[in-house]
Amino acid sequence: MAIASVNPATGETLKTFEAIGPEELENRLAAAHATFRTYRTSAFSERSRLLKRAASLLEEDQEDIARTMTSEMGKPLVAARAEAAKCVKAMRWYADHAEELLADEHPSDADVKDSGASGVTVRYRPLGVVLAVMPWNFPLWQVVRFAAPALMAGNTGLLKHASNVPQTALYLGDLFHRAGFPDGCFQTLLVGAGAIEGVLRDPRVAAATLTGSEPAGRSVAAIAGDEVKKTVLELGGSDPYVVMPSADVDRAARVAVTARVQNNGQSCIAAKRFIIHEDVHDTFAERFTARMEALSVGDPMDESTDVGPLATEQGRADLEELVDDAVRRGAQVLCGAGRSGDRPAGWYYLPTVLTGITPEMRIHHEEAFGPVATVYRVSGLDEAVSVANDSPFGLSSNVWTRDAGDMERFVQDMEAGGIFFNGMTASHPAMPFGGAKRSGYGRELSDHGIKEFCNITTVWTA
Ligand code: NDP
Repeated sequence: MAIASVNPATGETLKTFEAIGPEELENRLAAAHATFRTYRTSAFSERSRLLKRAASLLEEDQEDIARTMTSEMGKPLVAARAEAAKCVKAMRWYADHAEELLADEHPSDADVKDSGASGVTVRYRPLGVVLAVMPWNFPLWQVVRFAAPALMAGNTGLLKHASNVPQTALYLGDLFHRAGFPDGCFQTLLVGAGAIEGVLRDPRVAAATLTGSEPAGRSVAAIAGDEVKKTVLELGGSDPYVVMPSADVDRAARVAVTARVQNNGQSCIAAKRFIIHEDVHDTFAERFTARMEALSVGDPMDESTDVGPLATEQGRADLEELVDDAVRRGAQVLCGAGRSGDRPAGWYYLPTVLTGITPEMRIHHEEAFGPVATVYRVSGLDEAVSVANDSPFGLSSNVWTRDAGDMERFVQDMEAGGIFFNGMTASHPAMPFGGAKRSGYGRELSDHGIKEFCNITTVWTA
């Protein structure tokens, strides 16, 4: 894939970039490794000062970087601004909390008495150089969600960003540099996916984190496994959105629209499968479809746009194939299921609602990465859980119910890394984020996220 910014709203190539050569790659690896040796023992107060400076710079740059993201990958400008603000918040949160999250732990004397120690301390030391392979859908947030905790823990980072967001990728490298982080702390590698194996096998690289598709995750995990290096994988999902009879159905139908079409439908934690109890199914389906149909599809730079284009032409082709396959096999179209007729240029796809989904259809098992919802009718809680779990993915889940007994059952049975009741899934710096099954493993954010790239060290003293 060429490294280039191509405007998804027009198909116009805005800027192309040369990948860095082997010599430059070697320089950056060497710098990341050399810097780690000193940066790893820097004081939390110093790291915090630098990260807060980066947050303030990003705050100042909010409008410019939002426009860059929108022009590179098509998210509505309003959402791009919100993404930048969310990054600022996460940076400040880790700047304020990392020291306490990584404070030494002291098992009680009574617990370790029979180990022969006079004292035991658990210390969180950084792992080293971490390679981050990142996607285009939240081109700032996915990176900051890794970088803020990793840098606060004392690691150094190398970013291999998606090839269609090179300007955002370069901005990020520059941001941490301008904030005053030592050279080599956080660097962007403008390289194609083919260069990843060499970087990951390099002995100076300690670990990797990847957010993206399952094939990309499998490939990185296989190489890292071969090298016995730690990985964290976040590979997307097909989150269920269950509505039970006790729910506020109108609110559930309203929130469902945002939950599905946020980021033009290209979010790993978007609700994708709407599993509705038969008592409220028709009301929900009618209100949800009416609202999906009423969304304004258009230029993402226009502040009144709800849904912009898909990020890549290939992404739209993949989505079309998924919908066509379902329709060919008997799915009914409640709305959409086609390109936007009044927008011949750009990679637009209409907000779509499908029903009558069967397990033979690809969309039942695969992630629909665009504004396409599937609606299922179920007869009770057992069937709702069973349909919700009938997916290879297990990222997050949403359940609308006011019944405490139902809630406990869903908490026990949902095969997912999150359950959001009476609301939509969202990430937050203080809440762990990650999935089960083929959505990946490991956690980002919160104390769990910052500890993923730490060497949890037992210090035993006789
Ligand atoms: P990819 O997984 O291909 O891209 C994500 C990142 O992985 C990019 O930096 C990419 O680099 C890199 N990459 C691609 N192939 C490999 C590989 N074999 N080994 C190592 N790294 C690799 O996502 P796509 O853009 O192709 O999207 C395809 C599908 O993936 C989507 O339709 C969606 O289902 C899922 N996806 C999920 C995301 C999420 O948030 N969980 C985000 C993006 C996609 P390069 O750009 O240079 O190819």
